[in-house]
Amino acid sequence: MKRLLLGVALALGGAPALAELPRTEPVPGGLVTVRLAPTEQPPPRVFLAEARVMVLAHEGAWHAVVGVPLTLEPGEHRLRVVEDDDVREVTFAVNPKEYRVQHITLSNQRMVEPPAEDLARIEQDHFVIRGVFERWTDVAAPPVRFDLPAKGRISGNFGLQRFFNNQPRQPHSGIDIAASVGTPVVAPAPGVVVEVGDYFFNGRTVFIDHGQGLVSMYNHLHRVLVAPGTPVKRGQRIGEVGKSGRVTGPHLHWSVSLNNTRVDPLLFVSDEAIRQFARQKM
Ligand SMILES: [Zn+2]
Repeated sequence: MKRLLLGVALALGGAPALAELPRTEPVPGGLVTVRLAPTEQPPPRVFLAEARVMVLAHEGAWHAVVGVPLTLEPGEHRLRVVEDDDVREVTFAVNPKEYRVQHITLSNQRMVEPPAEDLARIEQDHFVIRGVFERWTDVAAPPVRFDLPAKGRISGNFGLQRFFNNQPRQPHSGIDIAASVGTPVVAPAPGVVVEVGDYFFNGRTVFIDHGQGLVSMYNHLHRVLVAPGTPVKRGQRIGEVGKSGRVTGPHLHWSVSLNNTRVDPLLFVSDEAIRQFARQKM
């Protein structure tokens, strides 16, 4: 069947590659896929509010791959689908999910309530980081199957409702992998390094653009081994685990963003990779 589809795709010439889809979880912070027009038609342009949404060819049809914002209320939501000159709305359902609460104690009060002198820098950091997550790069078949970027223990899951020294803060926008300083951090999928920085909360950071609004971020690094503009292969070393920025100990914070929405990175990691990781962990 796959072979037949491939034959058809080749016959059409310049036809879409056959892509895998990531795992879906239709909850805030999760992923939804929505089947659209057959791939004989040109790819539709899809939007969630103002954000462009990834579209992949899968089993003969275009599929929107939508990152669901943590702030989206459970219920029915709409995508705007632009096909040729036609604009229509397609609905998708979001189920509720209760994320656990995590209390973190920081001895450095400056990281909990930054003094006025740090606020300009924090604002500038947010401006740069937001700009990277808003990127759109045309890539026909972006990778949606990731490896884990470092070996270690998963010490913080996505979506935790966090309190720093008993003060409520933003929910956890990625996963934490605890590992010793210097542990290699690798690109979990191919892409291009688009930004490298040293931020107040996130510490030394690398961003990889995988295409179609899929951007991954690696924080608290000890060393950065790549520069903006560097294409990276799956498994290529991009840095080392560290404890720069707001941390209680050395770990990698890994975020994955789709349509400018931070989602659970583990939805992109195969069960096999997670099993392998469990065997290898220290
Ligand atoms: Zn984290």
